Amino acid sequence: MLLRHTPKEIKERSALVVNPAKTCQPIGAMYAALGVHGCLPHSHGSQGCCAYHRSALTKHYKEPISAATSSFTEGASVFGGQANLLQAIENIFTVYEPEVIAVHTTCLSETIGDDIKQIRDKAEKSGLVPKGKHIIYCNTPSYIGSHVTGFSNMVKGMTEVAENTGKKNGKVNVIPGWVEPADMEELKRLAALMAVPITLFPDTSGVLNGPLSGEYHMFPEGGVTMKELKEAGDAVGTLALGEWCSADAARSLDTRCKVPCKVLDMPFGLKATDRFVDALRIIAGTSVPEEITRERGQLVDMISDSHQYYYQKKVALFGDPDQLIAMTEFLVSIDMWPTHMVTGTPGSKFEKRIKELTAHLPYEVNVKAGGDMFLLHQWIKNEPVDLLIGNTYGKYISRDEDLPFLRWGFPILDRVGHQYFPTVGYKGGLRLLEKILGLLLDRKDRDDSETQFELTL
Ligand code: SF4
Repeated sequence: MLLRHTPKEIKERSALVVNPAKTCQPIGAMYAALGVHGCLPHSHGSQGCCAYHRSALTKHYKEPISAATSSFTEGASVFGGQANLLQAIENIFTVYEPEVIAVHTTCLSETIGDDIKQIRDKAEKSGLVPKGKHIIYCNTPSYIGSHVTGFSNMVKGMTEVAENTGKKNGKVNVIPGWVEPADMEELKRLAALMAVPITLFPDTSGVLNGPLSGEYHMFPEGGVTMKELKEAGDAVGTLALGEWCSADAARSLDTRCKVPCKVLDMPFGLKATDRFVDALRIIAGTSVPEEITRERGQLVDMISDSHQYYYQKKVALFGDPDQLIAMTEFLVSIDMWPTHMVTGTPGSKFEKRIKELTAHLPYEVNVKAGGDMFLLHQWIKNEPVDLLIGNTYGKYISRDEDLPFLRWGFPILDRVGHQYFPTVGYKGGLRLLEKILGLLLDRKDRDDSETQFELTL
């Protein structure tokens, strides 16, 4: 009983978060920056922040994450960090030779009020940025929002290099949101099957799920290039996957470069993948090939084969808004019953959307944006569920309440596979179902009486 002090009785809390269901903004900004080819993320703040962000990503992706820091000490904390950042830019381009530095702020540099755009411009004017190299940036004050906000801010920062030359290049921008490198690979595979030329950004495939080759490359082959980001301004359209992660960047591109955008849910599950494939088909004026239709059919087949095990099973979920919305739609489509849900990321739109998706259920779902895992645990104690879905931090609740637990989301610190096996698209849907079914049937096998114990599915 690791969470033995969590009481069943729920009391109103307004100024206290216990076991947050989120982490800090710069982690998202750092993850997004790693999806740019040849990019070294730079944390403008103290070394401690940078070390934390790097280690959080390293533990999830099982890859060493390189990032630089402005290394604030007392002086920078009082007088501002401009001198540190200018020095850092010079050192980084000289020593590590990245194509691009992606600067994000931290609580401290935000509180001081450092103006990153002004410092970036000064670095360029002073000749600290070699020809053909770039600095992109975003503000990530971690006392607002969450890691999702930071991710979104950095992706929006990427769109600022896009240029509209007035001549469309026939490509489609796809902003995937915070998904795994394997998911990004899967989105590219689907687009390739449909013969749609896309620019995916950010793109961490080939960066955080690369092979062990015996050689160290500080900047792996993957990632969207700065050239592609520049050309994103000439695309025929943008598909932004996820309102929280991707919409701001797509809208900014629309405003600045007149690239029309459509905001979709992340393509987890049958319906959301249908909408993604259809939007890609329409925007590129192409048709859906037989291979994708076949994959869809396999997912439908698996749903119908095992539907009886999902039917009316109650689920508690926690994680990030875009993922939870798509997962809720998927669960509901296979007749599972989402029952409790929290995201640490604030935004009442999330609660509204979840309530719409679950309006047909015979009870009202407990849902809270800006909530915490303490509350989720209390809800579970009051109304038990059959399955818990979320990141590794859910293992404490799972153990205490003896719940089957699907690890899905960020961070996953104690399992592998998420880097390599997608959960987006139809194939990803199969993987999600396989994992959910395995958990439910393992539990059934454990709990069934001897007379109910079945050999066959
Ligand atoms: S001080 Fe702010 S930016 Fe740094 S680790 Fe803490 S929450 Fe994140």
